[in-house]
Amino acid sequence: MAILREKVLEYSLRMSRSGMAPSTWGNISALDRGSGVVAITPSGMEYDSLTPSDICLLDLEGAAVEIGRKPSTETALHLAVYALKPEVGAVVHTHSVYATAFACARREIPVVNATLAAVVGGRVPVAPYAAPGTRELGLGAVNAMGGRPAVLLAAHGVLAVGSDLRAAYTVAEIVEDAARIACLAGMLGAQVELDAAETARIRTEYLRNYGQGE
Ligand code: 13P
Ligand code: ZN
Repeated sequence: MAILREKVLEYSLRMSRSGMAPSTWGNISALDRGSGVVAITPSGMEYDSLTPSDICLLDLEGAAVEIGRKPSTETALHLAVYALKPEVGAVVHTHSVYATAFACARREIPVVNATLAAVVGGRVPVAPYAAPGTRELGLGAVNAMGGRPAVLLAAHGVLAVGSDLRAAYTVAEIVEDAARIACLAGMLGAQVELDAAETARIRTEYLRNYGQGE
């Protein structure tokens, strides 16, 4: 599990340094489906001070696999995703400012830019309000997400998922970027949204052609 812990730590530092996770907020996890072990950030610790052994190892019910730090208070949120979405291997929860502004306004992020169409495949939905740290937050988030890899948590932040950490982190970044762009485009008085057919075309092309392949 050393590599899983190191990867979670690597992306936690990236998230913190990017400004998407102010102070000790936000959290990240990754699942090893073979063993059913989840590596998740500890609760309330400064990201810059973390070492691999601070990353908690849990089973899919949330029980500690190894005695260590107290895991994220959003463990139930992460575990709800793994339980209900078998294709997901990593979860990134941020409090990134622009996307969280949409979450507080309880407004979906519109598809004003092609990158959101490519990476998310449509608008970023908003889950109904549920208190942080609760199982309801997780169930409501997964339900609102539908087939999208991201959802806004009302009055709270962003949940992004992917097959691995790189994919989930990319979704979190592109969601924040799109929220900022939508906000600025709105201030310019022309928040023009891509239509569903063009959004679907961009998404298909992205899945088929973007990047170097595996
Ligand atoms: P943790 O520090 O417990 O992971 O909580 C941060 C957070 O984002 C709560 O919603
Ligand atoms: Zn949070």
